[in-house]
Amino acid sequence: RPEIGVLALQGDVREHIAALEAAGARGVQLRRERELDAVDAVVLPGGESTTMDKLLRAFGLAAPLRDRLRAGMPTFGSCAGMILLADRLVDAPADQRTLGGIDMTVRRNAFGRQIESFEQRMDAPDLAGETAGALRAVFIRAPWVEEAGPGVQVLATTAGGTHPGKIVAVRQGSLLATAFHPELGDDPRVHRFFVRMVQESRQGRQQVQSS
Ligand code: GLN
Repeated sequence: RPEIGVLALQGDVREHIAALEAAGARGVQLRRERELDAVDAVVLPGGESTTMDKLLRAFGLAAPLRDRLRAGMPTFGSCAGMILLADRLVDAPADQRTLGGIDMTVRRNAFGRQIESFEQRMDAPDLAGETAGALRAVFIRAPWVEEAGPGVQVLATTAGGTHPGKIVAVRQGSLLATAFHPELGDDPRVHRFFVRMVQESRQGRQQVQSS
């Protein structure tokens, strides 16, 4: 079982750990730099991205995490975690930093004040299989992807509602991000998708070592 560290400075850490366990991985809390060496992959949970950014810097985790992401460590960010993985932000405080890694511009709190939270079923065959309307996505003061670079694979867009067609799940190489919260509710498919990414990355490394 791969061991996956959930960044535990702020946000919905326990929910991610439970979802990872349900998806066949071991989920552990991650708070210190040395704990990074023990994990195969990282989850950046939902929460509040400006607070997480400040805590990442205060705990000395921002730079080592950024190095690991650049070195190809599989990482999944949901909601605030998606914001942390964005190379560029709009509607964010000028001093807010991200870890970056995905060539995308993310708009914070994009769905507006009136509809802070909502649920939607959407088709996301690459993420959740072929069943129509399969994925039940929970959005809470969620961002969306305003613009994605050519290397970014779009995995899900909103199906209807007030803002249809918005990009809400993406992958670039070893990095996965969703604007919604697959850790809420009990559909483990997005976490399973991520655990498969982690397993493929481990196999790739083993092949390199043994050749
Ligand atoms: N709006 C939050 C932020 O900007 C994210 C909300 C969430 O993670 N549910 O950080």
